[in-house]
Amino acid sequence: MQAEGYKFILTAPLTEIIDNPGFFIQMGMASMPGWLEGVFNRKYPHWKEVPLNEDGSCASAPAGLRVLEEVLTREFGAGSCVIAHPDTVDRFIGPATRAVAVSTHNPLGVTFAAGVYASMFGSSKNPINSLYTMRLFEKIQANPYRSSFRVIVGGSGSWQISETNSFERLGIDCAVDGRAESRDAVDLFRKTLNGEPLPRELKVVHPNNPLSLVIPDKRTAFGVIEMTTGCGRRCNFCLPDLNPQMSVPKDRIMRAVAGNVAAGNSQISLATEDMFIWGFNERQPFFFPNRNALLDLHRSIAEHAGVKWITLSHATIAPAVVDPKLIEELSDMLLDKSPIRMPNVSSHPEGRTLNPLIGLETGSVRMARKIMAGKSLPFEAEHWPSVVINGLEVFNRNNWIPVMTLIIGAPGEMAEDVQETLDLIFEIERRGLHVILVPSVFTPLKDTRMEDMVGVTETYQLSKLQWQLMMSCWKISASIALQSWWGPFAWSLGAFLFWAFRGRRVNGPNFTWPAMHFTRMVPSSLTYRMGGLYRGKPLKVLSREQLLDTVASKWKPYFVDAPGEKIMAATN
Ligand code: SF4
Repeated sequence: MQAEGYKFILTAPLTEIIDNPGFFIQMGMASMPGWLEGVFNRKYPHWKEVPLNEDGSCASAPAGLRVLEEVLTREFGAGSCVIAHPDTVDRFIGPATRAVAVSTHNPLGVTFAAGVYASMFGSSKNPINSLYTMRLFEKIQANPYRSSFRVIVGGSGSWQISETNSFERLGIDCAVDGRAESRDAVDLFRKTLNGEPLPRELKVVHPNNPLSLVIPDKRTAFGVIEMTTGCGRRCNFCLPDLNPQMSVPKDRIMRAVAGNVAAGNSQISLATEDMFIWGFNERQPFFFPNRNALLDLHRSIAEHAGVKWITLSHATIAPAVVDPKLIEELSDMLLDKSPIRMPNVSSHPEGRTLNPLIGLETGSVRMARKIMAGKSLPFEAEHWPSVVINGLEVFNRNNWIPVMTLIIGAPGEMAEDVQETLDLIFEIERRGLHVILVPSVFTPLKDTRMEDMVGVTETYQLSKLQWQLMMSCWKISASIALQSWWGPFAWSLGAFLFWAFRGRRVNGPNFTWPAMHFTRMVPSSLTYRMGGLYRGKPLKVLSREQLLDTVASKWKPYFVDAPGEKIMAATN
């Protein structure tokens, strides 16, 4: 502890700095309205606990803050900065403090999913995470030394500050868009030392060489270690895809694994937009996974002494159709180390599952072509529904239960598109496939190719068909998530009471019949007949062999199972 305070204080809202309750809970905090916090408090009484050092600073921190900590330490020397717990940030601020840097993923609750659910429950834009963010900014604003330091906001949610012009309201001097490794980011902190004016917004350049990425070897929340940047599939609504496509070298990942374990972390989560692009090389298109490299990396992590748990982050589904053997072999090495159990859908002896986050987004071929033509590669977008079904079959066979997001109300979405998505959802149900579906209302993200487009902005605007899609997704998800005998009953009753006392007022009349269908309080024959719900039509699904036959001939040579052994449709 420094008596005059640290030059630079790094911190984050409590909901983003925690790591003990798990990803799903953190996602819930980012989506659910503040008045539901009591539910989390009762169910997870220890969610607020953060490992601390002797001086009260954080012993575990979000990976982004760790990157900034290392960059500042390299530039300004050891002891120049500290990662402070948001509740005790005042203890580290003193007359010598020149900047307080706050990392946020979603400070105001306006990204996909977050905000939508808060809006659906009737308190728009105030998810739990957002409330904790406000509290942190209030605390910083009230600090007695506030006039002698600047407040800088970074992280993937900093654009929300600029977008909503919340600088004055939250007491923020500068919002930085981009990574801490940039020279411009370092110069910003130097300016605070020199008392120079700061720009209100700063967009910094992303490194374009994997060796210039900083991969800290200190303990991170959830053991998050960066695996890749960028993606390459070019979905129009996607922000991370705009970054250069790079893989972090294995030796640097393993150093970070060792650092986390040495600091008492037994969990590792590789952060990526698509785990299957890691280790890609110029010898083949990036959408053909480098199986040997991926297996080698994951084997090394799984066999590292002290690594008890491994969780997956983001992925795409086409690689499961391209290389089912990769999924099988990854399962063999990772499943025993997954902390997530879903015994009702897993054949693992302990009910363990792997749960990558994957974008499904739409079942409409027309919309897939329009907004995410590359998501299904090497298969054409016109086969997207078949890719989803085949991919899910491969995943489920290996106890992977993906969490899949859907976008409802994208610009240009028509009733037929929603019906096609419902057809896909019905087909998933009909085949008994397991997936956690997370529908969200389209939100244009700044700097993406869809930033100027407007879709549905409030849940009240959703059509009956869109509500049916939303509730059908949750019906499937609830069937997996609620594992006790009484869970589904309590869920149905709760949903009915919510509709009766709040939902129908907040979400409008289009919500009623889809909600009734979801609660199962009314027989489904009635909800279809009286509510006029869509019954679906049969979906033609290509088999894997048929899908492989559709692939462009220039890409067929890359379907290689092992050196010299083709697994193309013709030779499978
Ligand atoms: S596949 Fe995912 S990460 Fe890649 S561009 Fe599309 S949305 Fe972005």
